[in-house]
Amino acid sequence: MSKPAVFLDRDGTLLEEAGYLDRLERLVFFPYTIDAVRLLNRAGFRVVIVTNQAGIARGIFKESFVAEAHEHVADRLSAGGAHVDGFYYCPHHPEATVEEFRRDCECRKPKPGMLTRAAADLDLALDRSFVVGDRWHDLEAGRRVGARTLLVRTGYGRTEEASPKSHVQPAAVVDNVIEAVSWILRA
Ligand SMILES: [Mg+2]
Ligand SMILES: [Zn+2]
Repeated sequence: MSKPAVFLDRDGTLLEEAGYLDRLERLVFFPYTIDAVRLLNRAGFRVVIVTNQAGIARGIFKESFVAEAHEHVADRLSAGGAHVDGFYYCPHHPEATVEEFRRDCECRKPKPGMLTRAAADLDLALDRSFVVGDRWHDLEAGRRVGARTLLVRTGYGRTEEASPKSHVQPAAVVDNVIEAVSWILRA
C-alpha cells in the first residue's frame, strides 16, 4: 500500500539557510533537525528531501558536492537513529551559466516534478502527504500534487509569511521543522 510522505525542503527548513551552501562547513543542522526526522520515521512517514540547487546551474558548485552534502546529512541522521528515504534536487535554472543545466525543467520548485518522481520511486500517497518549507514556492509544489503544506518561520519563512500568496494557503505556519512535525503527528 502507498505510504504517506513528508517532503522537507533542505536549506532554511531542515538545515540553516546558508545562501549557496557550497562547503560542508556551512552545512548546519538545527538543534532539533535529527529529532524531527526520527519522529517522522517512527510515525511511519516516508521522509523525502526536495531541494532546488541552482548553484549547480550557476557554476557555484558541482553535483558531486550536493551528493557529498547529502551523504553528510545521511550520516549525521543515521548517528542519531534517523533516516531520509530519498534525496531529490533540481540542478537546473532557465538562465544557467552552465549550459547543460540551462533548462525550463519540470523539477524546479514551484513545479512538482521532484514530488511526482519521488512518489513513483517510493510508492507514495501524495494526497496523504505533507510538504514543509520556508518559501512559498516549496508549498506551491505541494499544493499542485494535493499535499497539505506547512510554512516554517526559519530561513526565509518570516519574510514569506509577511507577503501571503492568495494561491497558496498553508495548512499551518509554524516556527520551525520540529513544530511542523508535531503538527503533522496531530493531524
Ligand atoms: Mg528553503
Ligand atoms: Zn530541474
